[in-house]
Amino acid sequence: SAKTHARGNYRYYSPRLTKENERRQQILSTLPAAIRNNYFRLVYQPRVSGGHPSHVHSMEALLRWQDPVMGIVSPGEFIPIAEQTALISDIGYWVLEEVFAMMAHSQHQLPDNLSISINLSPKQLEDLHLVATITGLLGQYGVRASQFELEITEYSISSESEAMMDNMRALSNMGFKFALDDFGTGYSNLGILQSLPLNVLKVDITFIRAIGTSIKSDELVRAILKMGHTLGLRVVAEGVESAEQVVFLSALDCEELQGYYFFKPKPIEELLERFKRA
Ligand code: C2E
Ligand code: MG
Ligand code: MG
Ligand code: MG
Repeated sequence: SAKTHARGNYRYYSPRLTKENERRQQILSTLPAAIRNNYFRLVYQPRVSGGHPSHVHSMEALLRWQDPVMGIVSPGEFIPIAEQTALISDIGYWVLEEVFAMMAHSQHQLPDNLSISINLSPKQLEDLHLVATITGLLGQYGVRASQFELEITEYSISSESEAMMDNMRALSNMGFKFALDDFGTGYSNLGILQSLPLNVLKVDITFIRAIGTSIKSDELVRAILKMGHTLGLRVVAEGVESAEQVVFLSALDCEELQGYYFFKPKPIEELLERFKRA
């Protein structure tokens, strides 16, 4: 369907918008079958502490969609599209169940007290069935809330949303930890950070990438770490790719580092092999 825009007295045709729109439509129409046929899987990316790859206290679950028709579609592309529909709810519960099942199955092969981080979309966080469904799944798989951390972004946070605040409080009381993901990219009401049951601040990759490029960028990272620590939060750096970044962040007592420098996201089987050898 060609998209047209009124402009002056004539209409013109925008090929770029049309392509984007077609891609969006294709993703929307393919997702239900992908969910039904289970074309999804999870990969996990360890976070390391003390700048040492054998000190792994947590791993983040990241969704992958490999479709027979579409090929590999990045979550950075399809999650925001799914979020505009009810499909995000099915995807979100699939992820939670998959992570709990993995934990139940592989617990004895994982490092002690390993915590798994799960990304929650804004819509999920407002879902009135969220707490009951999660409670049911914990029981079904025999795993504990304290083994998991839920990552939310600044965009999900709205103090006006009663449902969201209630869900966060209830899940936190159950023992789930909360991390604020992509910190620094959204509009952040700094006041609200104090009132939420947060444990972790994840500094967005854009700030980590800028380390060493200017004095201002370095000062900014320093200030974010200081703020996180002042609020009593653990700070995690996202997207660490160089030794220089590791040295810089370690000197600032950044609690955990996550990035290709240490680990790329991998299927759980590969990581279990690695823990066996460590
Ligand atoms: P995120 O939660 O901020 O995840 C971090 C992203 O950075 C991941 O991309 C990860 O693969 C990537 N990354 C990690 N280390 C490096 C590095 O050193 N360099 C670079 N360039 N990238 C690195 P990914 O897996 O493509 O996921 C993109 C986004 O999609 C996630 O950002 C998250 O917002 C969303 N997402 C992924 N899985 C889920 C899920 O299960 N549920 C929801 N709601 N969202 C998800
Ligand atoms: Mg995340
Ligand atoms: Mg992030
Ligand atoms: Mg992100």
